[in-house]
Amino acid sequence: MKQLLVLAVLVALAFAGQKRYDGYQVYEVKAKDKLSFDVLIKLYHETANYDFWTEPRGLDRSIQIMVAPAHQQTFVELMQAFNIEYSVKFPDVQRLIDEGHKDINTTPILPKVHRSNSREARYSLNWTSYSDYPAILEFINELVAKYPNLMSVRTIGTTTEGNDILMVKISTGGNNKKSIVADAGIHAREWISPAFMTWLIHELVENYAAHPQYVDNLDWYLIPVLNPDGYRYTFAANGDRLWRKNRDPNPGSACIGTDLNRNYGYFWNTGGSSNLPCSDTYHGGAPWTEKESIAARDAILAITNGEVYVAMHSYSEDMLYPWGMTYDPAPNNAELDALGQAFVKAVKAVEGTPYISAQSSSGLYIASGCTDDWAMSTRAEGGPGIPYSYTLEMRPGPNGAAGFQLPANQIIPNNLELWEGFKLIADFVITGKLP
Ligand SMILES: [Zn+2]
Repeated sequence: MKQLLVLAVLVALAFAGQKRYDGYQVYEVKAKDKLSFDVLIKLYHETANYDFWTEPRGLDRSIQIMVAPAHQQTFVELMQAFNIEYSVKFPDVQRLIDEGHKDINTTPILPKVHRSNSREARYSLNWTSYSDYPAILEFINELVAKYPNLMSVRTIGTTTEGNDILMVKISTGGNNKKSIVADAGIHAREWISPAFMTWLIHELVENYAAHPQYVDNLDWYLIPVLNPDGYRYTFAANGDRLWRKNRDPNPGSACIGTDLNRNYGYFWNTGGSSNLPCSDTYHGGAPWTEKESIAARDAILAITNGEVYVAMHSYSEDMLYPWGMTYDPAPNNAELDALGQAFVKAVKAVEGTPYISAQSSSGLYIASGCTDDWAMSTRAEGGPGIPYSYTLEMRPGPNGAAGFQLPANQIIPNNLELWEGFKLIADFVITGKLP
């Protein structure tokens, strides 16, 4: 008992300097008509007072919005004035965050000399807790050292705070193979996204013998954490668990950070992003202003045979495809939908998690400057022309418990079901056929 108490005190001290969310509430709201939906969109992008935990999609689905104590009365009055259904989903956000502290990987990174004798625990990463960036880097370096014939890594950029952005390539060599391109951790607080990406790497490389076809017949280009400054900030003793953007200062503003997933240069700032540096969807002062978006752009443009692109996010259990910046369907809409539906069917088959696949703008919400639209844009338009492009929103579901603080005991179930989806994508890339 005493030891538990000591541990609890130590954990509390470790996060004592983090931004606190006492009295913050998350509301679940549902718009009834286009007018009230548009009110929500205005709140999303035209003030920085409301933190949308899930994206507004349409009238058929509720969304979760965090509101600070000082803005709660106004928020409730707005909901009532526009006849928007609302309820309190999480009455105390700080408690959610405190409960999540037990889900953080505290395994120390072992010096190499101690590891060489041990058959297990070569790296400190596990999938029963969430790991900070240094543990992810160590995991990648270990695997590259152990499987040099399957995996390589290169630095595609360095952030303002000096963190390297890495791209892992998993390949058995040869030319003219198609490839799957993916990035994770563009939004700092979405911890499940790198937790799946690292699992995917582990599965492809460490379990290669169980399914060599997925590496022999195609190449994988994977960015495990695209926004390492932001990601580290969500773990830092003086950081903020709910940080979303990168950590670059904005000239003329006290507010930090750009939403990298609004900063891409294909139809940049044409709706569904914010001009306000304090907003969580701030698109930056111009397209391609951020080191992270530039690094991803240049690295992905260098890949000539990309067939599928997946941007890994959380949460809402969706597999969304372009366009997001217009309600118009993409020219290959039927193909995008067919692969998306097959993916969610494979995922659902594991334990019934009700993923949905749809065009990003299939509801009422437009967003621009996002990675998935750019990934599908043509070389002539400045993109890589990857024909199949998706934004994957992982667990929890749209009404899911705990939001970004998905309990760590769900990491492995999340990863196992998504791995089935990625196997299906890989089979499709190899054979050109869906089951
Ligand atoms: Zn996201």
